Amino acid sequence: VPEGDTIHRSAAHLSAALAGKRIVKFELRRSPRGQRPPEPGTTVVGVDAQGKHLLVRFDDGQVLHTHMQMTGVWHVYRTGERWRRPGHTARVVLEVEDGTVAVCFAAPVVELRRDVGVRVASTPAARSLERLGPDLCETDPDLDDVLARLDRLDPATEIGVALLDQRVAAGTGNVYKSEVCWTERVSPFAPVASLDPTTRRRLFETAHRLLRANLPGEPFGSARRVTFQGGLAVYGRAGRPCPRCPTRVLRRAQGRDQSLSFWCPTCQPDPPT
Ligand SMILES: [Zn+2]
Repeated sequence: VPEGDTIHRSAAHLSAALAGKRIVKFELRRSPRGQRPPEPGTTVVGVDAQGKHLLVRFDDGQVLHTHMQMTGVWHVYRTGERWRRPGHTARVVLEVEDGTVAVCFAAPVVELRRDVGVRVASTPAARSLERLGPDLCETDPDLDDVLARLDRLDPATEIGVALLDQRVAAGTGNVYKSEVCWTERVSPFAPVASLDPTTRRRLFETAHRLLRANLPGEPFGSARRVTFQGGLAVYGRAGRPCPRCPTRVLRRAQGRDQSLSFWCPTCQPDPPT
């Protein structure tokens, strides 16, 4: 699961490359029939992110909605520049008047819409994404809604799995899952049922705070994530000492998708069984 801040970074990068410029070419490849791309001469108004959705807005009122999921990525090239992904995986090729070419590769959802929200989806793949929880990258996500959604999970669900569940809250990926649990001294393997309401709220508040702190301040801002003292606390640091105590950081695959969790067994003990 890509982090929400990655999608926001892509949106900022694309917006800097495209906004205010007129389209000279727009190709939709392997998209549902009946999708009519904006005509040449249409201007790109802007690009933004909602959860894992990336939205490109045009001045004819259309919105290109792409969902990145695990595989999708947008690249920006100059005319004639060699693409860094195979051409057959391109879903959208969008060229603007100054020769900039934006290419969306391998996104599972690509559709043109008239509305600007992501809640009304027009294709089956997009419909399956409607149940997205509040976006923790937003300024003021509805944490009451997040906690209500958390309550609807099987209470035996491990919190590390729940943090990645985009139906609970959108935005948290593998890196922040580990960093958030470490920050709040909660084992990623603790069942949701073992956590009191204050702790549950704190976990999602911290996810929100860390994601917001890493949103790009400028289009080509640093891609380096900072959650603790200039870097990451536990993610990718298995075998090295915990920044709070001398215990070595552990790593284990977790959940159905076997995403790696990193944690300090001293600061984040298993809950009593
Ligand atoms: Zn520790």
